Amino acid sequence: MPNETHKDDNLLEIKDLHVQYNTDDAVVYAVNGLNLSLKKGEKLGLVGETGAGKTTLALSILQLLPKKVGQIASGSIMYDGEELLGKPDSYMLGLRGRRISMIFQDPMTSLNPTKTVGEQVYEVLHLHFPNLSKEQKQEKVDRMLQLVGIPASRKGEYPHQFSGGMKQRIVIAMALIAEPELLLADEPTTALDVTIQAQILELMRRLKDEFNSAVVLITHDLGVVAEFCDNVSVIYAGRVVEHGTVEQIFASEEKHPYTAGLINCIPDLTRDEKRLKPIPGHMADPRHITTGCCFADRCPHCMEKCRTTPPAMHEKDGHLILCHLYDTTKEAE
Ligand code: SF4
Repeated sequence: MPNETHKDDNLLEIKDLHVQYNTDDAVVYAVNGLNLSLKKGEKLGLVGETGAGKTTLALSILQLLPKKVGQIASGSIMYDGEELLGKPDSYMLGLRGRRISMIFQDPMTSLNPTKTVGEQVYEVLHLHFPNLSKEQKQEKVDRMLQLVGIPASRKGEYPHQFSGGMKQRIVIAMALIAEPELLLADEPTTALDVTIQAQILELMRRLKDEFNSAVVLITHDLGVVAEFCDNVSVIYAGRVVEHGTVEQIFASEEKHPYTAGLINCIPDLTRDEKRLKPIPGHMADPRHITTGCCFADRCPHCMEKCRTTPPAMHEKDGHLILCHLYDTTKEAE
């Protein structure tokens, strides 16, 4: 049950989160002091390249980090006014799937090839609402399948009988059947072609409106975020380096150099460009904590102090940028 006494309309509030993987060879610092908040019903895009810490963050919220290796070193994850860190497995089991659901990039991660799709959606509903009658559950399953565009007449079929896009729709049906307050969607359209991708985004938008779930859309693709989200957090080396509304991120002249690089990677069909401009270099080595700015090695604007001093977060009208370029603006205010 939601915490009725919690008046703040932040559904999720993450503060100074540090997550690491303790491998035999080294400690990998995956999330490094990350802050993030999400309101009820909000659609937030979490954008960054592979290895930025996006999926680790989602797994940390659900406490599904790989056992023994993955460790939340410090910080706070408040969900609807309750601190999740330190909660027992029994509490998290009640939360996962019922109040917070996750969709993974590869639908086969979530689908069981030996069970019909109808059985699989039914099982999720039964797990969270065992007291509904069998007829009520069947009715809800049929309706949910129909909502995601799968005819209920196909519920007796197995996952392999569906295309990739259809499988992802079934996964979405499973994720939403319990009407969660928060949906974590990890690259839900990456494996799909562009037409199906647009259909799945439209479907998520309609379902979000129907259930008023908040959505965290994890993606490397800023174009997808522009289509779907209200707000965007750009993540680099396990930190939020920029946060703002979609408009602030795309239209503001002030940008984090990393965000500017990501925007340059979006194909612009109105310009006759032969090649996209990828961001040169590689993500900072997560086995080492940088002393200065984590983007310094790849930044075209890197200054001397960027190598030695971590930048502070610059804020203007709720638009946050973690970069020394804006220090002077801040000082002048
Ligand atoms: Fe580039 Fe310096 Fe800003 Fe980092 S702090 S993004 S290196 S200008």
